[in-house]
Amino acid sequence: MHVEVTGLNKRFGEFQAVADVSFSIAKGQLIGLLGPSGGGKTSILRMLAGLESPDSGDIVFHGQRVNDLPPQERGIGFVFQNYALFKHMTVEGNIAFGLEVKKWNKAKIKERVAELVELTGLSGFEKRYPHQLSGGQRQRVAFARALAPEPQLLLLDEPFAAIDAKIRHELRSWLREMIDRLGITSIFVTHDQDEAIEVADEIMIINKGNLEQKGSPWEIYKDPKTPFVAGFIGESTTVEDISALKGFKEAANWPGTKGLIRPEYIEIGKENEFTLLSATETGKVSHIHFRGSEWLVEVQIGDIKLVTYRSLEKSVLQVGDEVHVLIHRAYLFNNKDNWVMENS
Ligand code: ATP
Repeated sequence: MHVEVTGLNKRFGEFQAVADVSFSIAKGQLIGLLGPSGGGKTSILRMLAGLESPDSGDIVFHGQRVNDLPPQERGIGFVFQNYALFKHMTVEGNIAFGLEVKKWNKAKIKERVAELVELTGLSGFEKRYPHQLSGGQRQRVAFARALAPEPQLLLLDEPFAAIDAKIRHELRSWLREMIDRLGITSIFVTHDQDEAIEVADEIMIINKGNLEQKGSPWEIYKDPKTPFVAGFIGESTTVEDISALKGFKEAANWPGTKGLIRPEYIEIGKENEFTLLSATETGKVSHIHFRGSEWLVEVQIGDIKLVTYRSLEKSVLQVGDEVHVLIHRAYLFNNKDNWVMENS
């Protein structure tokens, strides 16, 4: 199902939980709503589901405005964080529930339940109750139950949050595979950037009720449009006045411009072995820390502290070492604009 949302607003009392959010989602895409706690992700999902009504804005599914339709008439499936399975019902009973409500005939229900048990890898568990299942299995039942009535749009609210790390990893790739196979448009809420990057076709970054950016994980990483996005996705150091660094003096033409520098844009070396065309700085190693597969190195240049990584093979620096530093590029932001500046 194609989803089109325009000018969505929601207040709770004085508090603006969702502020003028617009986006569209192509059929079959898996979208991750990502952002810090309290940013408005769940509120957006609940408005799409019809569990909350917007103060203003339009929600259009497949060309039809659904603002006034109750949840059960929107053609959606919903998966919650805490399974929300019916405890007194078996796996089969849980999956069949929505179909019984919709008054499907018995034979058709049986067929559909068998199909979903097969699809979600729950064969052999049909007669079990939720308390006899692992967290991962329960979440697959929740998924099967949401899919049973053949929804056009699947909404998942932190579906893996309550599951331990290893199983969560397996479930993520499983979900990706399912969505690909079914071709169902899906939106999931998460505050885990690795999860969003790994699973989603596109990510929407939600912060303080605003949609800060929408794009593929790679687009968002390499071309962040706001300082918040640059800081939230991946790692970076913020430099309040980037024109203080050689190679970025030109930024002084735009007063008040901040720079964000990713660790991989910084090279350090004891000798100045870098190309002479680029401006290099001299700095001092102020901190060094082993991270398992590499060393985190903090370098102080005047009052600017930058963070970068060194691979294991390279000889390890010592705190206090003088180093040459080459900063290849930085993301620049001021109140009006954002752009990438290369070292010149
Ligand atoms: P989390 O990751 O913590 O679930 P979120 O991004 O999903 O956060 P929302 O649950 O959408 O955020 O909440 C956005 C803001 O709106 C929060 O500050 C929350 O306290 C507030 N809020 C949500 N629902 C209500 C409500 N029914 N009444 C009052 N305030 C609410």
